[in-house]
Amino acid sequence: MARRILAAGNWKMNKTPSETKALIAEMRKTCASDSVDVLLCVPAIDIPAAVEAAAGSNIQIGAENMYFEENGAYTGEISPAMLVDAGAKYVILGHSERRDYFGETSEDVNKKMKKAFEHNLIPVMCCGESLTQREQGITMDWIRQQVKVGFQDLTADQAKTAIIAYEPIWAIGTGKTATSDQAEEVCKGIRDLIRELYGAEVAEEIRILYGGSVKPANAAELFAKEDIDGGLVGGASLKPDFGDIVNYSK
Ligand code: PEP
Repeated sequence: MARRILAAGNWKMNKTPSETKALIAEMRKTCASDSVDVLLCVPAIDIPAAVEAAAGSNIQIGAENMYFEENGAYTGEISPAMLVDAGAKYVILGHSERRDYFGETSEDVNKKMKKAFEHNLIPVMCCGESLTQREQGITMDWIRQQVKVGFQDLTADQAKTAIIAYEPIWAIGTGKTATSDQAEEVCKGIRDLIRELYGAEVAEEIRILYGGSVKPANAAELFAKEDIDGGLVGGASLKPDFGDIVNYSK
């Protein structure tokens, strides 16, 4: 079965609940699509508003992070059960901003991946190299390590349900997009690794997204690549024109 393209937004720390309602009311029109899956990952406090605003549309709602414990004395953290109860179906894990600013390790990401599956949340696991790592020629070694540790102990069924987002750190929020060939090279490398770890069936099914300054002008070229199954989109998912990425082929 062909993999469906997924256009996933990451709102980061933007939009209040009221702004969320207004923006999704617009996006219901601009992001309508029969052929592309649409996901908006929003701040935890916006999830109930987002779920309500997107009800009955093709827009699915996810979170941007969660903690790996069930509950307890973890001031300020959000548990997977809280996300599920609020209506989230997906959760971004291991975004480079979480890794860089909040010290998340791949081991933490792995604990979160396992916990997300315990609660039937679909994880969108991010990986990506810095500019220095790319210049040192260690991009693929680094990404393989991040994916191997992040997926440690996941079953084949879990692995094929998970989504991986390849996001070169130097391309996030910088306006610099990896060329479609650079993005494809790494996404193919990730699929090859999944094949090594889980076999051909899982490798064919798992969706691998590219993220890093995706916009309407470059979405079609990126999404046409064999191993790129859509995009994780930051800045360009904060406006109704996100629909131009969803409808990239029109
Ligand atoms: C992101 O937040 O994951 C991202 C890729 O951001 P941007 O599209 O703004 O580069």
